[in-house]
Amino acid sequence: MSDYDYDLFVIGGGSGGVRAARVAASTGARVALAEDNRMGGTCVIRGCVPKKLMVFASSFREMMPEARAYGWELEDGQFEWPRFHEKLEVELDRLEAVYRKLLDGSGVEIFDSRAKVAGPNSVALADGRTASAGHILVATGGHPIRPEMANARFGMVSDDIFHMKELPKSILIVGGGYIACEFACILHGLGVEVTQFYRGAQILRGFDGEARGLIADAMEERGIDLHLGTNIVEMRPASEVGGKSGAEMGMPAEELGRHDHDEADAGAVAPVPMWVKGTNGMEKTFDRVLFATGRAPNTRDMGLEEAGVEIGRRGEILVDEYSRTTVPSIYAIGDVTNRVNLTPVAIREGMAFVETVFKDNPTPVDHELIPSAVFTQPELGTVGLTEEEAREQEPIDVYCTSFRPMRGSFAGKPDRVLMKLIVSKQTDKVLGCHIVADEAGEMIQLAGIAVKMGATKADFDRTVAVHPTMAEELVTMRDPMRSA
Ligand code: NDP
Repeated sequence: MSDYDYDLFVIGGGSGGVRAARVAASTGARVALAEDNRMGGTCVIRGCVPKKLMVFASSFREMMPEARAYGWELEDGQFEWPRFHEKLEVELDRLEAVYRKLLDGSGVEIFDSRAKVAGPNSVALADGRTASAGHILVATGGHPIRPEMANARFGMVSDDIFHMKELPKSILIVGGGYIACEFACILHGLGVEVTQFYRGAQILRGFDGEARGLIADAMEERGIDLHLGTNIVEMRPASEVGGKSGAEMGMPAEELGRHDHDEADAGAVAPVPMWVKGTNGMEKTFDRVLFATGRAPNTRDMGLEEAGVEIGRRGEILVDEYSRTTVPSIYAIGDVTNRVNLTPVAIREGMAFVETVFKDNPTPVDHELIPSAVFTQPELGTVGLTEEEAREQEPIDVYCTSFRPMRGSFAGKPDRVLMKLIVSKQTDKVLGCHIVADEAGEMIQLAGIAVKMGATKADFDRTVAVHPTMAEELVTMRDPMRSA
């Protein structure tokens, strides 16, 4: 047994930190974990989980006209945000308790406190206590950032959405990434008038071009007022330009559940209706402005650089393939390392860390061919190379089909589904798969297994179709649409 208080001290109780702590403890290691906010981190408390529940809530709106088209007699309902929100908070409390119980059950000692690195084997807690540990794992995640512009502090960030006491009537969403597009669809589905500004030529930069175009079309078709190549020139509280202030509109300042330590919230104030001028000449007042303009790693004031941990240009902790920092006893996983910022990846990184450090089995993290989904309406599921990336790499065949699916077509919905495979001409391997459809997230998880296994187009072809489904198109595309 070492002279340290613990074998492992984990800083951060999100998905990655909790998993690493539990699995390390199961090897017999003495483990402590510090979290200064709610246990569960971004994914469980202010990210994937509440977001997905909001996706479900918002999806019912389209089902009503669809049900009528199928012969149901029903009236359009009214969404009651307070009713949903109350239930959401109960559910998040339940999940947080589950996380705590799992840690307790694994024998991990929990400190409900902010902690920072005080040396290669030392951690300092906010109350002045210190603890020593053979290894320190930094899993502090990231936070949403606002652009640098006058009055940006009046805008909301994604964390704030989950604390709203009531829904705004209108919102301007700035950004074209995952968070911007998902919330544009969710809030529109819940009945909010949504305008979206994206500075680039097409939303969802980095995803397959055709998929991006189809999703943008579907969002506009639904009524989201999407402005491409557009940014904010100027924004001011509406009260300063003759509109009503947030207080006048009865929006309480405490609708924000902001955390003092979050960099995103430094100087942030309760959001109020904003008058906005766009680069496209639009001048309009929105009840709220939501900045979905990216996230940054939580490395500030963590004692990292002082301890010798090297930090990158974007504030991320630099690590090797085993998640080890420049200090051999300090490791880092998840969004704080800004590699692939997805919950399941942070969990994998945590497990690989435990294999490496506590099971004497050096395990690099595999960041290749990670399937993921964007929960827009319709969803985008993707794994592997986009057509644009593959074309740069080698000669390819592109198999692609776009059609109106049976369910929507019967109901007169205009939505089209996209199924697309990018295939290597040389090896016949499927290099990428892209699906735009309802439940594309579910479909891509399964297609992802085949692609990860190195399936060829011939393997897809010899798989019998499941009929009638949308996904059957993945195994029935006979001729390439084009080659490149
Ligand atoms: P992204 O980096 O994906 O998107 C940020 C967006 O904001 C981009 O469209 C960017 O434009 C734009 N932007 C950045 N700075 C400015 C600025 N100053 N003015 C105007 N626009 C700006 O970040 P997100 O916040 O959407 O998501 C963060 C990460 O969270 C994602 O990368 C993803 O890993 C994860 N996530 C995953 C989800 C999922 O798996 N479904 C859901 C939500 C988040 P440009 O493209 O020009 O740079």
